[in-house]
Amino acid sequence: MQTILLNPVSDETAIDRAAALLRAGEVVGMPTETVYGLGANAFDTAAVAKIFAAKGRPQDNPLIVHIADPDALEQVSASIPESAKRLAEAFWPGPLTMVLPRADSIPDAVTAGLPTVGVRLPSHPIARALIRQAGVPVAAPSANRSGRPSTTTAAHVLEDMGGRIPAVLEGGPCQVGVESTIVSLAGERPRLLRPGGISLEQLRAVLGEVVLDRAVREQIGDDVQVSAPGMKYRHYAPNAPVTVVCGEPERTAVYIQKHLTNETGVLCFTEFAYLFEMHEMRTMGTALDPLTQARRIFDALRSFDETRVQEIYAQCPADDGIGLAVANRLKKAAGFQVVNVV
Ligand code: AMP
Ligand code: MG
Repeated sequence: MQTILLNPVSDETAIDRAAALLRAGEVVGMPTETVYGLGANAFDTAAVAKIFAAKGRPQDNPLIVHIADPDALEQVSASIPESAKRLAEAFWPGPLTMVLPRADSIPDAVTAGLPTVGVRLPSHPIARALIRQAGVPVAAPSANRSGRPSTTTAAHVLEDMGGRIPAVLEGGPCQVGVESTIVSLAGERPRLLRPGGISLEQLRAVLGEVVLDRAVREQIGDDVQVSAPGMKYRHYAPNAPVTVVCGEPERTAVYIQKHLTNETGVLCFTEFAYLFEMHEMRTMGTALDPLTQARRIFDALRSFDETRVQEIYAQCPADDGIGLAVANRLKKAAGFQVVNVV
């Protein structure tokens, strides 16, 4: 299969063509403000199966359903609690996924058999135009091959999915750069399942109490039942093993300097770049700029695969705001191989 790149800037039929593919039961790479997704008609079991095949994704890892208008929530969820309405009002369109009781119309293939469904209304104008044109909710995980760092440009999608899907819709580099925050509203108390573009602090400002799921900070064993199945897999990983170094940035930089070999790659804050100039080094913005860290993290991790590095050391961002999401993705890329420098 040849994968075509559809660019709405140079081709005014691009979005229509991508929507027609979705309606025909095909899978399309699509931009969102978080990361690029692999979209398919959420009502079509056979189309959804193609997403799992293209990614090599385990069947027990459910997909997020994307809608273009708040009214469409009723098509995918059986009941919408008051808390969901408040969150939608505050953060939609945007990088927030809510886990709600699922409607019968959503097939098991999307939810991995769970009684709940994850729903998001993205803010990227091309994503919304595509979903509207398709006329159906669009199930979409990140567009990377399973286990690889997520895709934040159309070029990343072509790298992972070239030859496996019919088309990728161009939408520029992703503005948020890490996946959506996932909050479950299906239990007794709101629970943060995955940190992302909307911070825990922002959620608490609207909902009051929000419980932090333990899979956010710790490694979860294969035998343990987790709330968001995706959280248990090694994820986001470049080929070389990653070690995340946590602590004061000045100290973590010195720690990394002491442990370097000629075959070490370094992912550091911009202000420490001068220490690592002789090495394969990538910067992720300054220590105080988590928004830039989020935008750069996946591209930086991916880029090490074009080098010969045998190991990668990464400085860990602080745990607040969107930094919690960046730190979580790095720790998962490292399989939770973390060094705490005190
Ligand atoms: P991705 O965007 O590729 O990281 O994949 C979607 C993520 O959403 C996965 O980690 C899933 O575990 C999570 N997810 C989707 N639907 C649900 C659900 N109903 N309950 C809990 N987590 C979900
Ligand atoms: Mg993913």
